[in-house]
Amino acid sequence: MRVAARSIGHYIAGKDVPASADVVAVWNPATGDVRAEVALADASVIDTAVCAANDAWPAWAATPPQQRANVLFAFREKMRAEIDRLAAIVTSEHGKTLDDARAEIARGLEVVDFACGIPQLLKGEFSPGVARDVDAYALRQPLGVCAGITPFNFPAMVPMWMFPVAVACGNTFVLKPSERDPSLGIEMARLMTEAGAPAGVFNVVNGNAVAVDALLVHPLVAAVSFVGSTPVARRVYDVATENGKRVQALGGAKNHLVVMPDADLDQAADALVGSAYGSAGERCMAISVAVAVGDATADSIVDRISRRLSTLRVGPGEEDGVEMGPLVTRQHRDRVADYVRIGVEEGATLIVDGRTHSATSWPGFFLGPTLFDAVKPAMRIYRDEIFGPVLSVVRAGSLDDALTLVNGHEYGNGASIFTRDGAHARYFERNVRAGMVGINVPIPVPMAFYSFGGWKASLFGDHHIHGAEGVRFYTRLKSVTARWSEDAQRAGFSMPVHR
Ligand code: NAD
Repeated sequence: MRVAARSIGHYIAGKDVPASADVVAVWNPATGDVRAEVALADASVIDTAVCAANDAWPAWAATPPQQRANVLFAFREKMRAEIDRLAAIVTSEHGKTLDDARAEIARGLEVVDFACGIPQLLKGEFSPGVARDVDAYALRQPLGVCAGITPFNFPAMVPMWMFPVAVACGNTFVLKPSERDPSLGIEMARLMTEAGAPAGVFNVVNGNAVAVDALLVHPLVAAVSFVGSTPVARRVYDVATENGKRVQALGGAKNHLVVMPDADLDQAADALVGSAYGSAGERCMAISVAVAVGDATADSIVDRISRRLSTLRVGPGEEDGVEMGPLVTRQHRDRVADYVRIGVEEGATLIVDGRTHSATSWPGFFLGPTLFDAVKPAMRIYRDEIFGPVLSVVRAGSLDDALTLVNGHEYGNGASIFTRDGAHARYFERNVRAGMVGINVPIPVPMAFYSFGGWKASLFGDHHIHGAEGVRFYTRLKSVTARWSEDAQRAGFSMPVHR
């Protein structure tokens, strides 16, 4: 059913820019209604935003880091004051529960906390007297206009992985949020302006692949941070690097959790339920594969999870007590449901079928939690990122067999092990090919002062996101050798050697 739709435009140079004719619907996944229409930027809108950011850059780069940090301190307080209103917007466009929406904003604000320390983070290196009257030192300087392209699943947190660090370092920023839940981008831009960010420091352009393509080739964009699916990440990396930009492109995932026979199986089962079905499995750090070592472990885990799923509350994210909301769009829900069909056809054992859950008869984009046992590595439900509430249990004979599975998978975002054996945990941590490792922790999302990023097809580029890696990504290094001396310097015709 269509209801009167609000229009979401862009935010450029400190002002709202209304949508023009080209728009697309934004859905409320819990009701199946259109809640808004969002503008689709063309190349000329992108050019206006990038030029505004470029105009703002010299003065912002020359602003002392303490003053840039003050803007972020104020932004943090404004976000905290409005967290309930902002979380309600996230829930109404994404579908996740209100508690989860508040948590995503809080995790994003931890990156703001980190970026507030920018005067300390930007301290350079200094070596006095490397030769007579000569000092050597290194500076980190901002790059210019940085672009961020973000996915639907964390409309607040993933942009906050990027722009607070970028602007703290003295860059200006153009954000292109997901067109499926675009409102938080503009909300955050308005709050940045209220917090004291000069016009043009943080801009938001809404749109789809057309907008992204225009950003990737714009000559004034110095760097691109991308988070989204692997095929798009790979393409963004290729096109933007070909156009001379620095790029970090984070892609999809298929995160494994290895359950050892000595693990606390109640803890492991709880961890699997929360991490597989929280946010309807639409998290890049969701666990979508449980690797149970030994048949007895697998039987116990499957039994515990299926019992827990019988009481898991599915419903609109706004409702108290709801643990899992709808999927983001009808199309995505249907795609995930089709994977359940594929899994059955491939011969996996369907223990809990989300397609028959009572919530699927409601008008929103609901699918119940699904559990497969006896999943094999050749199956599509094992190989592909499904990005929905579908957990596959794979049975392995030993820790080495489990590691072979994890390491052989195309993706390498996160991987976890549940065990009581320190030697096994350490062996796993050292030998697993994934960027983020959990030990008795299901979703090993690093703190803001560490860096976030995967290996293999989960990340293209050299830098992880936020933490020290974020500061390195958003700055370039300059090494200075300076001589201040009263003594005359004679022309030298060979390379200076300092000894
Ligand atoms: P997506 O790749 O469809 O979209 C991401 C962004 O790219 C959006 O802003 C979208 O407008 C744009 N886009 C889409 N198609 C494009 C194209 N052909 N060319 C250029 N731009 C395009 O991803 P999504 O569905 O919004 O998000 C889910 C995906 O994001 C999952 O694969 C998930 O694993 C991944 N993700 C990864 C991480 C991580 O840290 N590795 C974090 C969150 C989400």
